[in-house]
Amino acid sequence: MLILVLNCGSSSVKYKLYNMENETVLLSGLAERIGLSGARLVQKAAGQEKVTWEMRLADHRTAVEAILRRMGDAGLGVRGEDIAAVGHRVVHGGEAFAASTVVDDAVLQKLEELSQLAPLHNPPNVTGIKICRQLLPHALQVAVFDTAFHQTMPPKAYMYALPYEYYRKYGLRKYGFHGTSHRYVAQRAAQMLGRPLDELKLITCHLGNGSSLCAVKEGRAVDTTMGFTPLSGLVMGTRCGDIDPAVVALLIEKEGLTPGRVSDLLNKQSGVLGVSGLSSDFRDLEQAATAGNRQAQLALDMFVYSVQKWVGAFAAAMGGVDAIVFTAGIGENSPYVRRQVLDGLTWLGLRLDERANCTRGRDAWLTTPDSEVQALVVPTDEELVIARDAAGLLAEHTLMENISITA
Ligand code: ADP
Repeated sequence: MLILVLNCGSSSVKYKLYNMENETVLLSGLAERIGLSGARLVQKAAGQEKVTWEMRLADHRTAVEAILRRMGDAGLGVRGEDIAAVGHRVVHGGEAFAASTVVDDAVLQKLEELSQLAPLHNPPNVTGIKICRQLLPHALQVAVFDTAFHQTMPPKAYMYALPYEYYRKYGLRKYGFHGTSHRYVAQRAAQMLGRPLDELKLITCHLGNGSSLCAVKEGRAVDTTMGFTPLSGLVMGTRCGDIDPAVVALLIEKEGLTPGRVSDLLNKQSGVLGVSGLSSDFRDLEQAATAGNRQAQLALDMFVYSVQKWVGAFAAAMGGVDAIVFTAGIGENSPYVRRQVLDGLTWLGLRLDERANCTRGRDAWLTTPDSEVQALVVPTDEELVIARDAAGLLAEHTLMENISITA
């Protein structure tokens, strides 16, 4: 069974085609600079070299058409009609979606309404779904949300202490993001620990360009660091994380910035980039700090400290913690960051195995046998979760159809 996973951004479409018989990736690719000059499509088929086509991609529809054509040309015998379902990454599901869902007209309308919560991200996601409904009408369209996993948070964790009317009027509350990743690594960590997920207290640390932590108690998210948008919580590559909200008013007043400019400053020029004045990439910062760059060191220290503080907060929120799980670009690949974070957590009874921590990019157990709290590395795989959810909903859908035919 073939499942296509699609991630439609404002000017790009990322895709992966899975054979779900054995969960292998047949093809992956990226159409970028859609609607701009220099547009191109890059595709890598299993066992083949990467191929790049420079082409005009006027809009998302042209891009998806080109993707389907190039998939067919890859020599793997893939035809559009063989794609049984398309799993779409959708950033925001608001309060309406606590799980992945099959897209019908009513769902599509709801998704359009939710665009006000994520005006930059949801509209291209919805566009992708609409195009696939037209180009692959036989395939089941499934939406998988970044926010869904966090919908189990209790109100005391997700409400903001603002006048209640703004929650009613604008849905102003904490939603959380990276949910697909937190869900996947929590499940995988439980397998590695050899214990049922519903008996565990986990803190999953998705540390990448965007970073967030999630407190997963007995398999359910009970708190997370990101909020109404992915700007809050930890110090990030270019995002400021938590700051005193009064700073926003001051920047508008003293610097004469428009709301759009402030948003830009907090999202794109802050975080470790802003503090170091050097880079948002942790490889650059680790190198510069080793060479004595004090601002780079300060940026790294602030990042590590923010992770440690939230681990402490989430251990308190759950009444303890069994394991801390690292994932995403930094979490999977930076022994330095993991050591710095974990060295500050010995009070939890956590004992780091220095040698085990040298690992990069694969499942690993980082703590010594006598450690009371475990630390693990689990490489995330959001696309695989999307493909699995699409396959699961397809199986349910097919079963329901068969039942109604029999009846
Ligand atoms: P995104 O949030 O865009 O998906 P990733 O999860 O791919 O980002 O993380 C990207 C970040 O991971 C890079 O900015 C870089 O800082 C960090 N990273 C990748 N490899 C390493 C490494 N070997 N050491 C330290 N940091 C790394």
